[in-house]
Amino acid sequence: MVSRDDLQSHLRQLLGVDRFRDYGPNGLQVEGRAQVRRLVSGVTASLQLIEAAVRERADAILVHHGLFWRGQDGRITGWLRSRVALLLAHDINLYAYHLPLDDHPEHGNNAQFGARLGLKADARFGEQELGFAGVAAALTSLDSLVDAATRVCERAPTVVAGDGRALRRIGWCTGGAQGTFEAAIAAGVDAYVTGEISEPQAHIARETGVAFVACGHHATERFGAPALAQHVASVFGLEHRFIDVPNPA
Ligand SMILES: [Zn+2]
Repeated sequence: MVSRDDLQSHLRQLLGVDRFRDYGPNGLQVEGRAQVRRLVSGVTASLQLIEAAVRERADAILVHHGLFWRGQDGRITGWLRSRVALLLAHDINLYAYHLPLDDHPEHGNNAQFGARLGLKADARFGEQELGFAGVAAALTSLDSLVDAATRVCERAPTVVAGDGRALRRIGWCTGGAQGTFEAAIAAGVDAYVTGEISEPQAHIARETGVAFVACGHHATERFGAPALAQHVASVFGLEHRFIDVPNPA
C-alpha cells in the first residue's frame, strides 16, 4: 500500500517529470482516495477504461493519455463530464504521464516498444530528444522490420518504402510522432518507425530514400503504462492489472 501523494512523488522523480514541456499536466489529474492498493494501467483515460477500473475496484489508474490537454476550453461537459464523474463517484485517483512516459529509458513507451522489435537506443534525436535510434541488429531489411512490427503490433503497418537500401540504423518514436521524421533522417537512420502517418511523410520517404513505417498510435503505445505500473506495483507491493481497451488507431 502507498499513499496517493507518495505514489505521485515517486513517479515524478522516476520520470523526471519537471524536465518536460508537455501538452497537458503530468501527475495526479483527478484526486481520489488517500491510499492506493489496487492499480489499473491503460493507454488512455477513456470511459471504457474507467468502467473497467471500477469493476476491478481500483484505487488508482495510471495512463499515458490523461483527460486534460492544451487547447481545451476548460469546461467539464459531455464526454469529459462522464469520465470525471465516474472517477469522482468511485474515489479513484487518475495519474497521467505523457512525454515523460514516452521518454523513460527503461519503462517508457519508446524503450518498451523498441525492445519488442529487438532494438536498443544508442542515440536520441528530435524535439526534447524523444526520438530513439539504434543499430538495426537483426532487422537489416525493410521486410524484416515490417515483419517484426506486424508481430509486435498485431496488425499490418502502413509502409512507405525508401530506396531499398539495407538498414544499418533504425529510428523510432511511438504515437503521433510523424513530425519527427525529418529529425530522424538528419540523425542518419535508414528507416523510421512511429504510430501515425500524415500526408507529407510519404513524399519525404520517397525523396530521401528513408523508409517510413506507421504501426498505429495506440498499437505502439500499449507497453509503457503497464511497464511503469508494474514497476511501482513491485516497489510498493500493489496489485496491478493492465487493461487494453482496443483501438483501431
Ligand atoms: Zn500518444
